[in-house]
Amino acid sequence: MKKLVILGAGESGVGAALLGRQKGWDVFVSDKGPIDSIYRSELLDAGIRYESETHSMAEILQADLIVKSPGIPNHISVVTEARQAGIEIASEIEFGSRYTDALLIAVTGSNGKTTTATWIYDILKTADFDSALAGNIGFSLSRQLTISDPKYIVLEVSSFQLDDIQSFHPHIAVITNITPDHLDRYNYDFSQYVAAKLNITSQQTPHDFLIFDADDVATVEALKAASPMVGQFPLSSTRILDQGIYNQDNQIVFHSKKKPLMPISELKLEGQHNVKNAMAAAAVANLLRVRKQFIRESLQNFHGVEHRMEQVLKINRVQYINDSKATNVNATYYALQSMKSPTVWIVGGLDKGNDYTELFPIVFEKVKAIICLGVDNKKIIESFGPMVSIISDTQSMTEAVSMAYQLAAPGDNVLLSPACASFDLFNDYEDRGRQFKNAVRQL
Ligand code: ADP
Repeated sequence: MKKLVILGAGESGVGAALLGRQKGWDVFVSDKGPIDSIYRSELLDAGIRYESETHSMAEILQADLIVKSPGIPNHISVVTEARQAGIEIASEIEFGSRYTDALLIAVTGSNGKTTTATWIYDILKTADFDSALAGNIGFSLSRQLTISDPKYIVLEVSSFQLDDIQSFHPHIAVITNITPDHLDRYNYDFSQYVAAKLNITSQQTPHDFLIFDADDVATVEALKAASPMVGQFPLSSTRILDQGIYNQDNQIVFHSKKKPLMPISELKLEGQHNVKNAMAAAAVANLLRVRKQFIRESLQNFHGVEHRMEQVLKINRVQYINDSKATNVNATYYALQSMKSPTVWIVGGLDKGNDYTELFPIVFEKVKAIICLGVDNKKIIESFGPMVSIISDTQSMTEAVSMAYQLAAPGDNVLLSPACASFDLFNDYEDRGRQFKNAVRQL
């Protein structure tokens, strides 16, 4: 029996362990930290051996294959020693993809992955395609495959998951955009991060497709340099292209079709970034020959994913919007850009080395007051203080929301779009978003 060692016992590690077991591997799971009790009992139930809070190198080095969870960086000794010993290391999606016949659609990028992947899945479901949504959302690919192997699998993949792939091969890949994020994992070198994103296309062939944002300079330049042998399918929300999908007179148009798909104004989700996400999803559906009527139906009805520009409530004609998932400057840029009336902006949290200058013009234009919500708000106050007449700070969500309530006038928006990680005051961005919504509901 061949030996499979899994490093990391989170969703992807445990998924890979369960799939490995099902496929006849001798599986051993090793996690340097404590293992969540739910995952522990799953491993026990499946009769899979595991260890926590240590890595037993003697056992790990006996592996025929190591599956490394995306959270584990490449430079730690367990990984470097295994590589030196010549053991094959695969990421979880690489491992899972060896056990499926499904047509894979993989979505990566800095922002918009969840929205776009969920939207593609929504179109496929609308058209009644046998499909699943997995990867970074919900089940890992491997776990999905222990349950079912549908004809189409839509995968959200982060750049970390693309680090160790050898044959992972989506028939359709989507790169939503590439802007600086998680640079700490790439030696603070943007080009390394870009290269990791481009990995999504590294095993694609001329029979496969890559959908990308032709308005995104970093993506376009990277593709020019790499010139992958793949069918390129660009999108643009701002101009007419000579191929792909684009905006022509505020209509969504496929270059290959005579008639426009639909007017942009009919999209249910607002914001320039969602026009791009919609185009990417429609492009996938078009390549899969989904009938236009189903694409249109989904585009007109899809109302987005929780914590992403989520319309919470309207109180006294003030719209409260939860964009807690905006954990970097670029995501917040698009959130502010989509505001159509004066906005009270709740911002702050754990700063990942943000450069706020990109936001200055849009804050000046759209924001009437700022509420900083974080343990350390100094940088935000210094950056934006000169731009708005009111800037205050707090460390409580309830207080932030009641300050916003006081400041907003009928017709205004209150937008939580933090541009920062949440871990200084909250468990995660979902906790932050839920606390925001609870506080709004209690107004
Ligand atoms: P991801 O899965 O890549 O983190 P999400 O769909 O969860 O992306 O959205 C994360 C944040 O980015 C949200 O604040 C959302 O409003 C914003 N966003 C969504 N799509 C885009 C896009 N295409 N470009 C920039 N920001 C986006």
